[in-house]
Amino acid sequence: MLTVNAYAAPSASEALVPTTIERRDVGAHDVLIEIKYAGICHSDIHTVRGDWGPQSYPLAPGHEIAGIVTEIGSEVTRHKVGDRVGVGCMVNSCRECENCRKGEEQYCLKGMTGTYGAVDRDGTITQGGYSTHVVVTEDFVVQIPEGIGLDAAAPLLCAGITTYSPLRHWGAGPGKKVAVAGLGGLGHMAVKLAHAMGAEVTVLSQSLKKMEDGLRLGADSYYATSNPATFEELAGAFDLIINTVSAPIDISSYLQLLALDGALVNVGAPAEPLPVNVFSLITGRRSFAGSAIGGIRETQEMLDFCAEHGLDAEIEVIPADKINDAYERVLASDVRYRFVIDASTLG
Ligand code: NAP
Ligand code: ZN
Ligand code: ZN
Repeated sequence: MLTVNAYAAPSASEALVPTTIERRDVGAHDVLIEIKYAGICHSDIHTVRGDWGPQSYPLAPGHEIAGIVTEIGSEVTRHKVGDRVGVGCMVNSCRECENCRKGEEQYCLKGMTGTYGAVDRDGTITQGGYSTHVVVTEDFVVQIPEGIGLDAAAPLLCAGITTYSPLRHWGAGPGKKVAVAGLGGLGHMAVKLAHAMGAEVTVLSQSLKKMEDGLRLGADSYYATSNPATFEELAGAFDLIINTVSAPIDISSYLQLLALDGALVNVGAPAEPLPVNVFSLITGRRSFAGSAIGGIRETQEMLDFCAEHGLDAEIEVIPADKINDAYERVLASDVRYRFVIDASTLG
């Protein structure tokens, strides 16, 4: 067992505090990673605050992990000491079910093992990336290409893959009109990725405050959803809408922005249900869909795509003692565009 420094929430209603957590001994198929950076995903906040249901505490969140391999188990073949690697939202799955065999481990029929707050194979509760080290089975560790800094790579492990996967699945590319709702951590990656795939990209943000940024990131146009005229002007305009908003929105009015056969894919995961007026679907043969992160193979593909296209995340690196402030800023939509914890400040 290895005892390592971490930041964890003692309960759903308390701020995160410095603490220590245990990491298992490095098994034959495991790698030990010295974490350099960990992104702060809105899902960390939903989880530790109990939005998605009760948790086991103390809980160290963090599933956007970038670091260096410092030890490998005797059977490890995919990684070596010194490799620059990443770990995203999963650290294991059954590997045998139909979905795992397709490389869609995030949809494992027996339930994938989340990087934090999940019951691990040995019965312990997994602890996430707001820590200095992590031990992970080699198959759930990806390689970070040279050319992407570890700090700006960290958010790709969740925000990157969560937007890359549906953009690919729903065919974003030349000739396709893609809208991204919410310009936060996921949203800014969706804009960059959809633009790099060749789609025409529109941002749907609450206001025009971040318009300059949105256009710089690769958007062709930018609209404020607080202005009712936006919904009239853009009626029927898009083939695909990726909704990254972390709070409930009026989905039916967004569905009206889809062209015939268009799809609105929800990646945002608010605690509350999102009611839909079926007429907004049947009047244009439209789809309302959802998507969760991406498989391990696709995560590697996304990282390689980012390296090839010179993409990474726009980040604000913070020391660990600013994690709670960063949470408040994320909740206030005051993030440009991902907070990343410098793990060397974890104590
Ligand atoms: P984030 O950085 O906080 O971005 C969310 C954005 O949504 C905000 O920046 C804001 O953009 C917009 N927004 C927030 N509150 C709003 C409101 N009340 N009304 C309208 N717009 C609002 O969060 P994130 O880390 O990108 O995560 C976004 C959501 O995706 C979260 O619910 C998270 O749990 C979920 N998620 C899902 C997956 C998955 O696998 N499906 C993976 C990761 C995260 P503007 O200021 O531009 O309006
Ligand atoms: Zn996440
Ligand atoms: Zn499975």
